[in-house]
Amino acid sequence: MAEQALLQVAIDGPASAGKSTVAKLVAKRFGYIYVDTGAMYRAVTYWAMQQKIDLADEVAVMAAMKSLKISFKPGEPDQLVFANQEDITAAIRQPDVTNNVSTIAALPRVREILTDQQREMATAGGIVMDGRDIGTTVLPDAEVKIFLVASAAERAQRRYAENIKKGIDTPLAQLQAEIELRDHKDSTRKVSPLTQAADAILVDTTPMSIDEVVSTIAEIIKKQSSTI
Ligand code: C5P
Repeated sequence: MAEQALLQVAIDGPASAGKSTVAKLVAKRFGYIYVDTGAMYRAVTYWAMQQKIDLADEVAVMAAMKSLKISFKPGEPDQLVFANQEDITAAIRQPDVTNNVSTIAALPRVREILTDQQREMATAGGIVMDGRDIGTTVLPDAEVKIFLVASAAERAQRRYAENIKKGIDTPLAQLQAEIELRDHKDSTRKVSPLTQAADAILVDTTPMSIDEVVSTIAEIIKKQSSTI
C-alpha cells in the first residue's frame, strides 16, 4: 500500500468553538503535530503584560518579543506552552490575557513574525494548526481547511464549564459578552481578520459532541488524502 501523504490541516473559527480540543485529537489520530497558534498570540500578550508595555505600542511589543522564545511540549489535557524556560500554560488562559490578546493580534508586524514561525513549523506537513487565519494567510495551500463554528450561547456554555474546572469563576453572561467582543475585534481588524477561506469546509459544532466533530474532520482528511 502506498504511504499516506502528510497533509497540512488548517482549523479556523471564532473563540471557544472547540478548535484546540478537536485539533489536538485529530492530530493524535493521524500522528500529526498539533500547533495552537492562539497560544502564540497569548504568549506575546502575557510577555508584554509582564513587562508592563502598552499593548498597542507595536515598536515596544516588537522589542519585547526579541527576548521571547515560544515553544510547545506535549501535555495532558493541555499541550504545554513555554516562554523561554517558563511554563506559561495556565497563565495564558487567565481572563486578563484572554481579554487583551486581540490588541496584540491586531499588530501587523507581530503577525508577520508569528506567521513566519508558523509556516516554518508546517513545512514538512503532517500538521494540524488551529487559529483564525491559518486557511487564509498562514497556510493558504493547506490540503484540508475547516472552519469550525458554534452559536455564541453554546460557546459561552462550553467555556464556562472549562473555566469552572480550572477554578476561574466568570459569570456565563459576562463570558458570552467577552467572546462576542473578541470575535468582533478579530473579525474587523485590518490584517488577516477572522474569516472563512473560500475553500474551507464549514462545520457547525453546536449540536455535536467532541467525538462527532473529530470523526467528521477525520473523514474529510481521509477523503482528501485519497485524492493526493
Ligand atoms: O484560539 P485562542 O482563543 O486561544 O486565540 C486567542 C487570540 O489570538 C484570538 O482571539 C485572536 O485575537 C488571536 N489569534 C489570531 N490569529 C490566530 C490565532 C489566534 O489573531 N491564528
